[in-house]
Amino acid sequence: MRPRKTKARKLTKSEQMARVRSQGTAPELTLRRALWHQGLRYRLTPKLPGTPDLCFFSERIAIFVDGCFWHGCPQHYSAPAHNAEFWANKVARNIARDKQADAVLEAEGWTVVRIWEHQLESDLAGIVTRIEALLKAKTPNVDRYHLPSGTVKSK
Ligand SMILES: [Zn+2]
Repeated sequence: MRPRKTKARKLTKSEQMARVRSQGTAPELTLRRALWHQGLRYRLTPKLPGTPDLCFFSERIAIFVDGCFWHGCPQHYSAPAHNAEFWANKVARNIARDKQADAVLEAEGWTVVRIWEHQLESDLAGIVTRIEALLKAKTPNVDRYHLPSGTVKSK
């Protein structure tokens, strides 16, 4: 657990770069390990819209772990001084893509959960508890199970 004082300040350049490098690896694994440890058996879902980091198919819950840099966390994102416009545009596109993916998933009956990378650092247990509560609140319904988008055969 990190000291509380580091939670809500802008990251230094090297911290920002460390987070950029960790994109696609550490934060998602942290959550996966915690869920698995709690007995919650997620699935990986590369073919769903927006490619959630994991999901629960029967309950139709899709979970994304959003990197504070790439997804423009209001607490931690600050544009790098070098190529600031490029990064601002890139992050803006990512945010727009996130919103679009959420809309598509929700239209297909999914509940979308987005978790900031920094929340995993500060409140992993709380996040696992909230996901578990969400799972319990949803009645599994096998009739609604279907394969990821793109592999569904329409009648
Ligand atoms: Zn953040």
